[in-house]
Amino acid sequence: VITMKVLICGASIAGPTLAYWLARRGFRPTVVERAPRPRPGGYPIDVKGHAVDVAERMGLLPAVRAAATDTDGLTFVDAANRETGRLDLRAMRAAVPNRDVELPRGDLAQILYEATRDDVEYRFGDSIRSAAPDADGVTVEFDSGESRRFDLLVGADGLRSTVRRQVFGDDREFVRDLGYAVAVAVLDGVEPLAAERWITMYNSPGRMVGVGRWVGSDRAAAIFMYRTGPDFRRDRETLVAAFRDEAWRVPGLLDRVLAEDFYFDTVSQVHLDRWSRGRVVLVGDAAHCPALLSGAGTSLAMVGAYVLAGELAAAQGDHATAFAGYERALRPVVRRGQRGVRTSAALMIPDSPFAIWRRDQLTKLAVPLARAGSLFARRGAPLRDYDVHLVG
Ligand SMILES: Cc1cc2nc3c(=O)[nH]c(=O)nc-3n(C[C@H](O)[C@H](O)[C@H](O)COP(=O)(O)OP(=O)(O)OC[C@H]3O[C@@H](n4cnc5c(N)ncnc54)[C@H](O)[C@@H]3O)c2cc1C
Repeated sequence: VITMKVLICGASIAGPTLAYWLARRGFRPTVVERAPRPRPGGYPIDVKGHAVDVAERMGLLPAVRAAATDTDGLTFVDAANRETGRLDLRAMRAAVPNRDVELPRGDLAQILYEATRDDVEYRFGDSIRSAAPDADGVTVEFDSGESRRFDLLVGADGLRSTVRRQVFGDDREFVRDLGYAVAVAVLDGVEPLAAERWITMYNSPGRMVGVGRWVGSDRAAAIFMYRTGPDFRRDRETLVAAFRDEAWRVPGLLDRVLAEDFYFDTVSQVHLDRWSRGRVVLVGDAAHCPALLSGAGTSLAMVGAYVLAGELAAAQGDHATAFAGYERALRPVVRRGQRGVRTSAALMIPDSPFAIWRRDQLTKLAVPLARAGSLFARRGAPLRDYDVHLVG
């Protein structure tokens, strides 16, 4: 049994998944999270492909399924709220059966936290002020003032990772903006715009506003996306300027979003030549964010965490060997996840009236296209077992 002390920064998806598998192999993980508690709610995310296997091997699939939002489809509407196209996700799932689950990000984070809280030290409401790696370990100073020594440091702190900035370099080197911005908020008491389990989307050229209600509640996720230029700034005025003159229900929804603690950022991917430096390694969005339009970030985060823990155990804690194995196993999976995001952007945020019309027509072919796509899709190798040195 390996008893290395591992500090993981970030308690969303990648962090707790990694902590789970490390603890099961005898490592001693500590997770530091800047939020005061697991952040609740949030937009729906997907657990799919190998991530379903990871959740299953953790014994969490029933809890994950119980929290499923099960979106049945998307309806595209014009300014008068008339349907112009629809994506029947239920029909697509029936055509291409799979075990994927969609659930709110916060619910998944909570499930992962509860599965680990007894075996893992969590430090909520704290962060890393500085990290000083050397040949034998990493000395970390926390914001709370405490200084501690760890064998390894893992950045599981998302697209804007602090660990990456402190150890690898500035965001400008690694964060590739795709030319869009996104704002998201979860709203209470939204009047139904479509049937339950259906997301309604309104487009004008280069802009998209979507609303989807939660099953059995009047809570809804509202999403605003738009094309940005080089002068983009991450402030409220920029968002307001982009949407204030839009038709449909946009102005009312915009006011609701602005009244919330909303998420607002560029739509970006992360690309690094190496995911590790010495005793510091990145996992999840911090290492390889595929951009939210890919719908792959959560699954990559779970699979990456599982593989990293497995490689560390298989290499008996020899971190250099393990980090190399982690990159070898995961790079092809990440490449697949990061691919195709521009096509999704063109479908979700068409940039001319003609492109909007063409997208609406294309939705009629969605089921046969999904079936054909699945026939030709390249399957990755099955997820390695790593069932070595399990404890407890
Ligand atoms: C609007 C939106 C919609 C999305 N839709 C989908 C989807 O449909 N399907 C899908 O698969 N994925 C989707 N994603 C992406 C998905 O949320 C991420 O890929 C996934 O959450 C990655 O998990 P992670 O653990 O790597 O990072 P994150 O979930 O970003 O978590 C990082 C954690 O680190 C913490 N943290 C950050 N900095 C520090 C610090 N300095 N100190 C301590 N803690 C810190 C944060 O508080 C957070 O808890 C979406 C993302 C967004 C923003």
